[in-house]
Amino acid sequence: MKALQDKIQQEGKVVSSTILKVDSFMNHQIDVQFMAKIGQEFARIFENEGITKVITIEASGIAPAMAAASALGVPMVFAKKTKATTLDTEVYTREVKSFTRGTVYDIKVAKSAISADDRILIIDDFLAYGHAALGLANIVQESGAYLAGVGIVIEKGFQSGGALLRKNDIRVESLAIIDRMEDGKVFFQD
Ligand code: 5GP
Repeated sequence: MKALQDKIQQEGKVVSSTILKVDSFMNHQIDVQFMAKIGQEFARIFENEGITKVITIEASGIAPAMAAASALGVPMVFAKKTKATTLDTEVYTREVKSFTRGTVYDIKVAKSAISADDRILIIDDFLAYGHAALGLANIVQESGAYLAGVGIVIEKGFQSGGALLRKNDIRVESLAIIDRMEDGKVFFQD
C-alpha cells in the first residue's frame, strides 16, 4: 500500500535496526482517517472470504482491527492480556511471548466471543516473530471457527513471523513489508 509506505517514510522513527516506532498514526496517537483507509484495504483484500468477525490483541491491534471490522461491517473482538474480573470464566487462552517487552503473557478470549461457524480475520499492527498472530490463530483453530487469514499493517520481512505463519498454512497479507532498516531509513520489499 503506497500511502502506507509514504506515511512510514514521513512519520516513522527507526528506533534500531529491528524496531520501528509509529506513534504518530497507529501506536499512540491514531490517525483515524488514515486508519479507515487501512481498514478499507483489508476489507478489499479479504472481500471474498465472507468474514464474520475480526480478532486482534489489545492494545495496539485495536485501531487497525476496528477499522477493518468497520469496513467489513462485522464485529471486532480483542484478546485481553490481563484477567479482568468482568471477563467470562470460560476462556480460550494461549501463552504469547512479547516482542517489545521480552516477557511472556497469556492472551484470553471468552469462549462466547467466537462460534464454530465464524469466519475469522486476524489483524495486527506489526508482524515480527509471529508469536502474537500464531497465539490468536491457535485460539481460532481451537474454537472450531474458520481462519480466513491474518492481515498485518507492517510486516518486518527480515524477522521470521511471516515464514512461520505461512509454514502453518495461514494466509498472511501485509500492507507494507520492510526489507531492512539502516541509518534511520526504512527500505521496503517491492
Ligand atoms: P510478534 O508476536 O510477531 O513477535 O510481534 C508482534 C507484536 O509485537 C505486535 O503486536 C506489536 O505490538 C509488537 N511489535 C513487534 N515489532 C514491533 C515494532 O517494530 N514496533 C512496534 N511499535 N511494535 C512492534
